[in-house]
Amino acid sequence: MTETKKPLTILLAAPRGFCAGVDRAIQIVERAIERYGRPVYVRHEIVHNRHVVETLEKRGAVFVDELDEVPDGRPVVFSAHGVPKTVPAEAGRRNLSYVDATCPLVSKVHREVERHHAAGRTVVLIGHAGHPEVVGTMGQLPEGAVLLVEDVAQAEALAAPDPDNLAYATQTTLSVDDTMGIVAVLRRRFPSIEGPKLEDICYATTNRQAAVKAIAPRCDAIVVIGAPNSSNSMRLVEVAAGYGCARTRLVQRAADMDWEWLEGVDRLGITAGASAPESLVAELLAACRERYEVTVEEIRTTEETVVFKLPRALVA
Ligand code: SF4
Repeated sequence: MTETKKPLTILLAAPRGFCAGVDRAIQIVERAIERYGRPVYVRHEIVHNRHVVETLEKRGAVFVDELDEVPDGRPVVFSAHGVPKTVPAEAGRRNLSYVDATCPLVSKVHREVERHHAAGRTVVLIGHAGHPEVVGTMGQLPEGAVLLVEDVAQAEALAAPDPDNLAYATQTTLSVDDTMGIVAVLRRRFPSIEGPKLEDICYATTNRQAAVKAIAPRCDAIVVIGAPNSSNSMRLVEVAAGYGCARTRLVQRAADMDWEWLEGVDRLGITAGASAPESLVAELLAACRERYEVTVEEIRTTEETVVFKLPRALVA
């Protein structure tokens, strides 16, 4: 006798998963392997996703932490998160061919902080200490020129050398709501602070958070597919919890699912961080179908049409 499966409604957030910057970075590595042959070195995880990294490794990419691990004569790709200025300078000094896969929206923030610095302003960067994007953005200016603020408490305590001559910029993958709170404190304390009209948080981060906000109040539980070191994925977990679905967790892929955790859940929300491929969502849906009688409803809050061009050196 076949056991009847319990029903499970899955609300699939859209947009979810890969953004244009991640898509471009992966294509850059693939094309660099085609053009230069194996191995192509990649400084840092090209994007924060183990599955993506392992797939590229099989095709001939070698991931390293620092440039001194790249042998002379081999090409190197810089990750989507961006790099401090010292990195391309060192690659140039060693005559290494390099391709910069920094997301154009991160490069835009780099130019912003340079512009403020050139105008004599002290730059306050809102972001998470140690995240590669923050390291890269701070590394656009001389050491000590950027003040990092991670939260409201640090914004309240910030001691600026020249309080009337400040500007702020933000990491691209922060929580929209938390960042608004930090910016509000900075604007109250330093009324003349300059900054972008909207925060530098990118379209993909904003859209994925909006989509998860839309499903959160309707879900008994939410799974965010992503990596623990992926900033935008972790923010999706927090946003889901903050918008009515306390039972939310990050899962790297279907094999890591704790099915007991789903006990009593009738409506499950699923989304994926900007560095998680859609194949991992499909894999989780298939694993759910093995255990439940699944009905899928996709909740789309916006259409995305952003595509970034590849660097000229890699286009035919
Ligand atoms: Fe670019 Fe945003 Fe994607 Fe980061 S999350 S790679 S900033 S589009």
